[in-house]
Amino acid sequence: MKQHLNVSADAAEIVEDLQRAGFEAYIVGGAVRDLLLGRSPKDFDVSCAATPEEVRAVFGRRSTRIIGKRFRLSHVFRNGEIYEVSTFRQAPAKTESRAGKDHWGENLIVSDNAFGTAEEDAWRRDFTVNALFYDPVKEEILDLTGQGLDDIRDHLVRAIGEPALRFEEDPVRLLRALKLVAQFDFALENQTENALFSKLPCMKLASVSRLTLELEKLLQSSYNDRHLQVFHDYGLLQYFLPTIHAAWGLPETEYAIDLLYERNCRVEERSYRNSVSLAMAALALPFVEKALGREPGTLWENSPEASDAIRRVLGTLFKPLTPMIRMTLSAEHILLLQPALEQGFRPQLLRQRGFSHARELGFIRHAVAGEDLAPLVKEWGESREIRECRPEKEASRYPKKRRPVRHDRPGRR
Ligand code: ATP
Ligand code: MG
Repeated sequence: MKQHLNVSADAAEIVEDLQRAGFEAYIVGGAVRDLLLGRSPKDFDVSCAATPEEVRAVFGRRSTRIIGKRFRLSHVFRNGEIYEVSTFRQAPAKTESRAGKDHWGENLIVSDNAFGTAEEDAWRRDFTVNALFYDPVKEEILDLTGQGLDDIRDHLVRAIGEPALRFEEDPVRLLRALKLVAQFDFALENQTENALFSKLPCMKLASVSRLTLELEKLLQSSYNDRHLQVFHDYGLLQYFLPTIHAAWGLPETEYAIDLLYERNCRVEERSYRNSVSLAMAALALPFVEKALGREPGTLWENSPEASDAIRRVLGTLFKPLTPMIRMTLSAEHILLLQPALEQGFRPQLLRQRGFSHARELGFIRHAVAGEDLAPLVKEWGESREIRECRPEKEASRYPKKRRPVRHDRPGRR
């Protein structure tokens, strides 16, 4: 289908260079989906017929790095940005090595490195809406599964191939399906939905390191309050973040979701940086209050006991996943500074590690409490404009029906 998509000039150039060198090449995956849905993609991935070595020959050793073990691909550097360039893949071979006693896992994939054609590459992808290819030279979209464009139009998440098998092959797809539901307010196509419910326990077999990567992506997303809600509604949260699942519906979790929501509005408005450690701190703050016997929103007084509680909460909230230590330490600093902020602004606060993020969390707390932020902006200072975003966003972010609730208590919203 002929259509102009507003792709990054650098990504388009990379495709063009590959095509000029004789390789079929496209912009693929999330970027094509996002642009068709009117969102701005966070990155542009390229897929092509060239092997990683051939990609390196096209762009030169200085601008290319070959990475990955399970999935070898190239990083091409352009104007300070990294573009992922992968080679068309076939559907991978299966393994039986990790099959459990109960047969869960006998279809699990461990290696994904057999190169193939563009057509094969589209079919080995997870969902039809993620399998669209865009040729920026011809300005043409290729829908090789034949269903992707329709599903974009109908707002449907449809697994490619046999849904139950696709979830068994790679249980992280269960989470990826629900991320699409949360992020775009898509529905699951019927068979995909049935398979998702029946294969949820496969999440137990997903690798902790891949789930940790998903957690970091989730914390960075400005939809993470919705992600958690949808994961809960569909019964996936217990396998992903069991501690948060166990506290679902309790005041501390409700407050945590409110803080994340407020943070997300500000990130979307680009008035705040998109910081993983700030999201971690926002999520953890109510649990620290709880651990110290405080009501949600009442903070604590700093003491060795409070510092221990902060460390303990950050160490257990995301278990069994292990976010990067750097981020956890940074979240710890953000939390430690919260009571100090409430004692009035002192210039030495500015020199404290993590102050600007801590101040952002301070504003978020006060915004959730429904307070006027102007006096605080005056007191704490703020390099960027603080805008109230809650009422207007409330309407646009939660406009539709709630998702079906199949597990546990009904969702809050
Ligand atoms: P995001 O906006 O979160 O980056 P994305 O769809 O681009 O969404 P990526 O993790 O960047 O997600 O993956 C890029 C593409 O690779 C996907 O669009 C999909 O086509 C394919 N893909 C990623 N993970 C899987 C998987 N587990 N199984 C099959 N295909 C996958
Ligand atoms: Mg992507």
